[in-house]
Amino acid sequence: MLRALFISLSKAHWAQRLITQWRFAWKMASRFIAGETVEDAIRAVEQLNAAGILATLDHLGENTDSQAAAEQSTTDILKILDAIHAAGLRSNVSIKLSQLGLVLDSELAYANLVTILERARQVGNFVRVDMEDSSLVGITLELVFRARTAGFDNVGTVIQSYLYRSPEDTRNLAQAGIRVRLVKGAYKEPASVAYPKKADVDAAFNQLVDILLQAEQALDAPGGSANVLFPPLTAVGSHDPLRLKYARESLKKLGLPDQAAEFQFLYGIRRDLQQDLVKAGYPVRVYVPYGTHWYPYFMRRLAERPANVWFFISSFFQK
Ligand SMILES: Cc1cc2nc3c(=O)[nH]c(=O)nc-3n(C[C@H](O)[C@H](O)[C@H](O)COP(=O)(O)OP(=O)(O)OC[C@H]3O[C@@H](n4cnc5c(N)ncnc54)[C@H](O)[C@@H]3O)c2cc1C
Repeated sequence: MLRALFISLSKAHWAQRLITQWRFAWKMASRFIAGETVEDAIRAVEQLNAAGILATLDHLGENTDSQAAAEQSTTDILKILDAIHAAGLRSNVSIKLSQLGLVLDSELAYANLVTILERARQVGNFVRVDMEDSSLVGITLELVFRARTAGFDNVGTVIQSYLYRSPEDTRNLAQAGIRVRLVKGAYKEPASVAYPKKADVDAAFNQLVDILLQAEQALDAPGGSANVLFPPLTAVGSHDPLRLKYARESLKKLGLPDQAAEFQFLYGIRRDLQQDLVKAGYPVRVYVPYGTHWYPYFMRRLAERPANVWFFISSFFQK
């Protein structure tokens, strides 16, 4: 119930106004967000890289409601691609199509996506299209496939294990050689489209790991690039130790090298597990969000963990 409440708060403008004015909210959010500026983001990535960890930078933003704002987001993403290149960072970028205008006009979002992919190609980098709520999944995948067919091999996307449709989508993406980050899913979805029970979401996650890793065995499955900006076909995006263990065992069972999959974490979460995997020799990438539009991202992070919510609510009443 708390999860549903915080996910609906993530979309409420009145709550955004109330919460973002409260200084403690930013203090708590900054555990999950690298900062508000490009410089903050670069500093966070430098620290991760120094610890042997790769990154993917997310210039925060979603549900952009004007063409001008969608174009501004596109410009901001081009700047971060240039900044990564100039600083020689081991980081690619993650974006959301709703940030590029998807809820206004899918052609506008596609044009902005192409602009970003072209710049990424010029600087030899990779772009991951994050997955949003189920109303946007079909169109997001359609635009990713369209970009791939147009010759962009530097685009990847995300699959959410809570969706019933995901096994088929995963097979189609793997067949097209489109790199996938597998996650459980962060939105509140109806039982008509997504598993309501955590046990089913976890079982589906394992099944999707197998689909992706079996595709890795195919000769033409894309591996990670030597400069590690391009990830392998399979990225396991989870902080759940049982999901990580399953993926490690599956790699072994299929006779794949440790580098055949990448393990991805959100900034500020389970640093202990990140370090364990680095020590064991697996590629680890951290998703580093930055920018001023941190409110909905922060609300989803609260929703994921009841302990975060209780800490936040009790602090609100103590202010
Ligand atoms: C790199 C990355 C990218 C992602 N991209 C997307 C995306 O594009 N679309 C999308 O829908 N979702 C995305 N997600 C979020 C994902 O869908 C889940 O909501 C989130 O990862 C929590 O699920 P879990 O696999 O960690 O497992 P859970 O079972 O939720 O959590 C397992 C354990 O991880 C820790 N943990 C998990 N979340 C938190 C938190 N917020 N704060 C503190 N500890 C926590 C706790 O110890 C918890 O017990 C992404 C996640 C990652 C790691």
